[in-house]
Amino acid sequence: MFAFPAGGEAKAALSPGQVVAAAPTAPPGGPTVSAVAAVLVIEDDLRIRESLADALVAAGHAVRSEATGSSALAAVIDWAPDVVVLDLGLPDIDGADVLRMLRGVSPVPVIVATARDDEAQIVELLDRGADDYVVKPYTAAQLEARIRAVLRRVEAGAPGAGTGEVVIGGLVVAPARREAALDGRPLELTRLEFDLLAHLAQRSPDVVTRRELLAEVWRQPYGGADKTVDVHLSWLRRKLGETGTAPVYLHTVRGVGLKLVAPDGGG
Ligand code: CA
Repeated sequence: MFAFPAGGEAKAALSPGQVVAAAPTAPPGGPTVSAVAAVLVIEDDLRIRESLADALVAAGHAVRSEATGSSALAAVIDWAPDVVVLDLGLPDIDGADVLRMLRGVSPVPVIVATARDDEAQIVELLDRGADDYVVKPYTAAQLEARIRAVLRRVEAGAPGAGTGEVVIGGLVVAPARREAALDGRPLELTRLEFDLLAHLAQRSPDVVTRRELLAEVWRQPYGGADKTVDVHLSWLRRKLGETGTAPVYLHTVRGVGLKLVAPDGGG
């Protein structure tokens, strides 16, 4: 779990509201190491906040931490972080409400940190706009992996990213623009529904396993509940105007996974 650094020096830099960042260490003209992200850590537990800030700074990030939901919302606006780590148990505002308010002011990726491995709550938070989650107690290395994954997804979805449109029958999926349309009509998809559709479209006509979807779309490489995939899949099917029992594009291959293919007789 967290490595609490020994050391007597007062850590003024870790007080809420201050930004800490490692001094640049790359040699001039040397290769650019990974892009440094501005990470806002919202956590009321002082020990967790300090150890996270230390670990993230050591990983090359600029870190600002806040101990309350209200100060965190202000920090999202003033500081415009690249990614937010949000503890759900805050003293002033419930974490789910902080997420909702944050989504009202910023599209910044949010990783929620929850004390309970409660799948219903996690699915709900993901659906409300969280990008990923970690369950406490988690290691700084796990969080860093989640941060990198979220940033990769943001980059992949950024304008100018190289992925081309995929056309399957009447379905057009444009990962770079994060747009999808069916028979010329734009589809209103949540972030996760879009990621699920785009992943299946990019792999079409291959069958994709639920394990792969959990790893690639939900960033759960060690697997999770298939129900997580199935819940989002059923919402996606509804938006495509089909059902599991009368599939058009999204077909379940029993015991293997899913595939996205053109309807019979379609392009
Ligand atoms: Ca807490």
